[in-house]
Amino acid sequence: MSLEPEEIRGLLDSYPDRPWIGAVGSHSALDIADGARHEGFTTLILSERGREATYSRYFATRPAAPGRSARGCVDEVWTYPKFRDLAAAAEQERMRHRGVLFVPNRAFSSYVPLPTIESEFRVPIVGSRSMLRIEERSERENYYTLLESADIPIPRPIVDPHAIDRLVIVKLPHAVRRLERGFFTAASFEEYQRKSDQLLAQGTIARDDLDGARIEEYVLGPVFNFNFFFSPLAPRSEGLELLGVDERRESNLDGMVRLPADQQLELPPGMRIPEYTVVGHGSLTVRESILEEAFRLGERFVDASRTRYPPGIVGPFCLQTCIDRNGHLTVFDVAVRIGGGTNIHLSLGHPYGNALYHEPMSTGRRIAREIRLALDTGRLPEIVT
Ligand code: AMP
Repeated sequence: MSLEPEEIRGLLDSYPDRPWIGAVGSHSALDIADGARHEGFTTLILSERGREATYSRYFATRPAAPGRSARGCVDEVWTYPKFRDLAAAAEQERMRHRGVLFVPNRAFSSYVPLPTIESEFRVPIVGSRSMLRIEERSERENYYTLLESADIPIPRPIVDPHAIDRLVIVKLPHAVRRLERGFFTAASFEEYQRKSDQLLAQGTIARDDLDGARIEEYVLGPVFNFNFFFSPLAPRSEGLELLGVDERRESNLDGMVRLPADQQLELPPGMRIPEYTVVGHGSLTVRESILEEAFRLGERFVDASRTRYPPGIVGPFCLQTCIDRNGHLTVFDVAVRIGGGTNIHLSLGHPYGNALYHEPMSTGRRIAREIRLALDTGRLPEIVT
């Protein structure tokens, strides 16, 4: 049974006046910690042993030497044999004792089992606990069903591979690295069969995953990930903000497109099907006339989330879009928490966020600002789930 909202809000009664901000150490943790630090919070990063040096050493806060400003943004790091161990009851107790307000990122919802997050993790989450599950494409109720109910354009699904009559992308997990992608494209059933046979033989994808894969139209156009923020504390008409837009660098796809065409054609057969492993991000802006549509979709997403998953989206979310030659947006993926590309805003902010706040406004800082506002006005229960 999922945790009751009252139970989570009740935990805040015994919280100290100066809570900490905590996150899992991967994905967007630096943005979260840096933003928290800018807003005067103390930060905790929860890490897996062997993966903590970024936080515990290279970005650790160090006291100011005379005449110098303090360095770093991570105040404390707790490590575990496995990420999921952070959810043990004793660790939750430790976090509550510190007054940790937990900011969920994709590392949290990937490494800690969703049933644990939903039913056992008794630490207040600044975000949308009950929505995390909809990011799983294998769920019956997932982000596609939410987008459809919100009348947001999604890539046309193709139910049967025999019906492939245009360029499609086949979405399934990598056979070994389960959190990575085993995606491939095809423009006909024959191509689908040839490529899937090859990927199966290589061990890149597994038969069960292929049978359950989502096949959808490939939207020809650049990818723009819109990093929005929704504030439940603001009047509804002012709640939606656009903080920034990012794009991804995907290995080895990006490596391939940097090769001249004749060298691409010389690649050995086993290297010709690109993988979509995200390895970095870049910052973008969009043509201004497209912003209207982006905001329209963002508003619809917020409304649908409030109807179907009350209290709905809290804080950051990301609509991942392709923009076609007519300037129309199609949403092919959604993050219902801080997006993976927000380190592009890290410390410097982003043109859109900065234009709103007249100071560097990253996603991490915006989250901390919301917490600060909620604390100052006695409304913290409204932003935790
Ligand atoms: P995802 O795992 O859904 O975030 O997708 C990974 C990558 O696949 C994206 O960054 C896009 O480059 C690409 N992609 C996913 N879905 C589509 C689509 N329907 N059309 C075009 N590209 C897509």
